[in-house]
Amino acid sequence: MHKTALVLFSGGQDSTTCLAHALKTYERVETIAFDYRQRHRVELEARLVVLDEIRRQFPQWASKLGQDHLLDLAVLGEVSDTSLTRETAFKMETSGLPNTFVPGRNLLFLTLAAAVAYRRGLQVMVTGVCETDFSGYPDCRDDTMKAMQLALSLGMDHRFLIETPLMWIDKADTWRMAEALGGKALIDLIIEHTHTCYLGDRQHRHAWGYGCGTCPACELRARGYERFLSGPTL
Ligand code: ZN
Repeated sequence: MHKTALVLFSGGQDSTTCLAHALKTYERVETIAFDYRQRHRVELEARLVVLDEIRRQFPQWASKLGQDHLLDLAVLGEVSDTSLTRETAFKMETSGLPNTFVPGRNLLFLTLAAAVAYRRGLQVMVTGVCETDFSGYPDCRDDTMKAMQLALSLGMDHRFLIETPLMWIDKADTWRMAEALGGKALIDLIIEHTHTCYLGDRQHRHAWGYGCGTCPACELRARGYERFLSGPTL
């Protein structure tokens, strides 16, 4: 039986929902994130606020929530030329992928997360990757996750499980999952404290949270929230 988990926790809506899922499911949960010199630091700041708020508002989860790990991954910013790490505008590349794609990012994240999980004795790695939404990042696909699970388990001679609670659901269902896990309190926490906007905008407050309202990440979050409000509950 799996009892311990390491959540790849960036401070966004998806990874906060994954964290709530892990806290409901496992007995001991730790979190990890990576500083790869992303253009906007607000996400790294937001994640600490989210952790504090979860501890404060969900005492039943606070006792399970252990160490937070922040790893310096400046080298990823050095080797990649993307609009998440450079001052360039968003656009679609000829590959059909948006230039927000950071090649190798999730592969590196999972490898380092596995090294930390190995050291900390954590059995499951939980990540908010998803095939359903627009971006089509190849390192978010189910096959990639399964291949990584196998490669890491073989390469470290240690059985890892990579859990992807959001893989087959859309953004509206991600909001519904959060509601099922933590009720209105968790929805309000996600709206107020998580960060998704690619432009790092914390000035403009919408019904669904803070952001510029027009970048692809804001549009996705806003559309999901609208469908969440108008649709059935899980
Ligand atoms: Zn935005």
